[in-house]
Amino acid sequence: MCIAQLIADSRKIVIKIGSSTLAAQDGTVNTAFLDGFSAGVATLLKKNKQVVIVSSGAQIAGLSILKKWSRKRDIHYRQALCAVGQVELMRTWSQAFAKHGLHIGQILLTRDDFDDSSRTLHMRNTLFTLVDEGIIPIINENDTVCVDEIKIGDNDTLAAQSAVLWSADLLIILSDIDGLYTKNPKEFPDAQILTEVYDLSSLHIALGTPGAFGTGGIATKLSAAEQVLSYGIPLVLTNGSSGRILESLAEGTQQATLFLAAAEKSSADPN
Ligand code: ADP
Repeated sequence: MCIAQLIADSRKIVIKIGSSTLAAQDGTVNTAFLDGFSAGVATLLKKNKQVVIVSSGAQIAGLSILKKWSRKRDIHYRQALCAVGQVELMRTWSQAFAKHGLHIGQILLTRDDFDDSSRTLHMRNTLFTLVDEGIIPIINENDTVCVDEIKIGDNDTLAAQSAVLWSADLLIILSDIDGLYTKNPKEFPDAQILTEVYDLSSLHIALGTPGAFGTGGIATKLSAAEQVLSYGIPLVLTNGSSGRILESLAEGTQQATLFLAAAEKSSADPN
C-alpha cells in the first residue's frame, strides 16, 4: 500500500501538528508553514475530503506575543501562558484559513472527556456538524484546566483518541523527523528509516531496551499507532517542515513511515 493511494482513498483525515512544526527558528509561530499547510487542506476539501486538525503550539504562541515567562516552570504560569497563547494560535490559524474562505472551530479537550460517554457523544456530534458544514475543527488539549491527573499529556494520544472518536480513515502525524527509524537518528547517524510498519509488538520490545529504538517523543507516536491500528485506522508519521507537506504526501514524494494493521499486509502482500 502506498501513502499517495491511501490519501486518495481516505475521506476523513486527522492531521496532528507538533510544536516543533509550528515553531519558527525565532520561537514565534511559523506563519509560512501555516499558510502553506492551510492551502494544502483547502485542496483536500475541494477533493471532497474532510479534515480535522490537532494543533499544539499554545505555549509557543503565548511566548511569542507576551515575550516573558519563558523561564517560568510553575504550572500556573505555564497554564496562564497557554491561556494567552491559545487565542493567538487560533487567530493565526483563522487568518491562514480565511485566505481560502474557510472557517475554523476550536475544540479544547481533556482526558476525562474521553472517559465520559455523554461528553464523547457531544464531541462526536460537534465534530460531525463542523466538518459537514465545511468548517475545520482544530483540537488542542485544554491546558488551562488540566492538572497532571487528567492530562492527556501529549497531542499524539489526543490525535489518536480524536481519530477513533470521529471514525477517521487516516491519521497523519507531522513531526520534526521523517518517520520511524531503527534507532534515534539524532543520536545514531546509521539509523535507517522504516517505510512500512505492521508489527508494533516487536517495536515495543526493542523500545524497552535502552538505546535500542529510542524513547521520548517517538514512544507516544508508537502508542498512538497502536491505538488507531486496533480500530483499523492507518497512521502516517512524517516531517512537517515543509508547508507543501500535504501535496508531497499526495504525490508520493515525501519520505514517511506508514503504520498499517497486520491484516492490511496479508491483503496487500500475499507473501
Ligand atoms: P513532536 O514535538 O513533533 O511531537 P517529538 O520531539 O516529541 O516530536 O518526537 C520526535 C523525536 O523522537 C525525534 O525528533 C527524535 O529525536 C526522537 N526519536 C527517538 N527515537 C526515534 C526513532 N526510533 N525514530 C524516530 N525518531 C526518534
